[in-house]
Amino acid sequence: MPSINKTDGQMPSIVLPEYVRALTEVLEAAGEEAYLVGGSLRDLLLGQVPHDYDLATSAPPRRTADIFSEEYRVIETGLKHGTVTVLSEGKPVEITTFRIDGSYTDGRHPDAVSFTDRIVDDLSRRDFTVNAMAYRDKTGLLDPFGGRADLTDRLLRAVGEPVRRFSEDALRILRAFRFSAQLGFVIEEATLEGIGRCKEGLERIAKERIAAEFLKLLCAKSPAPALRAMRDGGVLPYVIGDYCPKEAIIDKLATMPAEDTARLGLFFADTDTARAAELLRGLRLSNKQITGACAVLRGSAYEVRTPADARRLIAASGVWASMAVRAAVLLGNAEAEAIGWVEKNNAPCQLSDLAISGRDLLAVGIRGKDVGKTLLELLSAVMNDPSLNQKELLLEMIKKGL
Ligand code: ATP
Ligand code: MG
Repeated sequence: MPSINKTDGQMPSIVLPEYVRALTEVLEAAGEEAYLVGGSLRDLLLGQVPHDYDLATSAPPRRTADIFSEEYRVIETGLKHGTVTVLSEGKPVEITTFRIDGSYTDGRHPDAVSFTDRIVDDLSRRDFTVNAMAYRDKTGLLDPFGGRADLTDRLLRAVGEPVRRFSEDALRILRAFRFSAQLGFVIEEATLEGIGRCKEGLERIAKERIAAEFLKLLCAKSPAPALRAMRDGGVLPYVIGDYCPKEAIIDKLATMPAEDTARLGLFFADTDTARAAELLRGLRLSNKQITGACAVLRGSAYEVRTPADARRLIAASGVWASMAVRAAVLLGNAEAEAIGWVEKNNAPCQLSDLAISGRDLLAVGIRGKDVGKTLLELLSAVMNDPSLNQKELLLEMIKKGL
């Protein structure tokens, strides 16, 4: 079994899954170097199961593709940036040529990417020490920036000079907070100071990329300390403008189901739906995400003391009722029992839950736009009173003109 250091009892050994190790062997047999790098190596060293595996290789991208093309399925979409995706036992593994980024004149993208044959150069362009290690069986762990010690101390430290690294790419600022929320790590002092000096750079980062990091942070294991650090360091306004939820909400986020809409709904529960929707639009989130988050936030304000209250919350939050009631419980607006009431009620909350379909409406002579309109009216009626959700009753209602 490959191991980084047999005398070190603290860190788990690094064992690559067979389908990944097979790829490193193919590259090494072709005379190239192949290392496990990035988040997958970090997670293995933390004893966690990585969600995917990234390899770095000395082989230029075209050559990587050629090496694998006979025996594997190769996806070449990232070739220009040096990345080739190889399917091994049906699972995608990204293999990227050792890279150095050129200068960053816009604070977002390197002006040019060039390839190198030295793994250490590739590691030095990476963001944090814990993400800048490399491993291969033959030579063990390569850790030029002290990532392993930082993993032990649970610290996020920029590789190199923090101000330079954050001015090259301000997204790294949000990555620091996101990793600190996911891993439960503290941002090292000089790194945090660098963040403070470079935060304006976030203005040049695309909102979509900001939103992606922010959602990962919100859904992480411990978002609260990271959010407080962002608030106290003046970074939060670059993400969500002048809004900041009260302490009680920040504290409760970790106990909300780890899902985008649910956590956004609770996060924005300290304002009204109009303002939340505006802020969420500013993050270029999809209409579905915005509607969902607003539904959770709306329902979270409901006082639920009886099953009838639960039905009202269902009417207000629709498909998001079960998330909304959880938020309401966390905010102290609802009894813990309310979750059961909402779920047991199993109220119809989307069109497909209705005991009647568009086809039934056509059969009784409703046409065109009126079909959708009628279905929505029926849905609204049964959300208020689930006992109405029976085909005959609904047809009766239609006959009576609803
Ligand atoms: P996860 O995939 O679990 O979110 P990760 O560390 O794998 O975490 P990725 O975004 O997948 O993060 O990036 C892979 C690696 O690429 C990182 O570990 C880091 O070494 C490097 N990296 C990614 N983005 C940047 C960046 N903006 N600046 C510098 N290095 C980066
Ligand atoms: Mg990754």
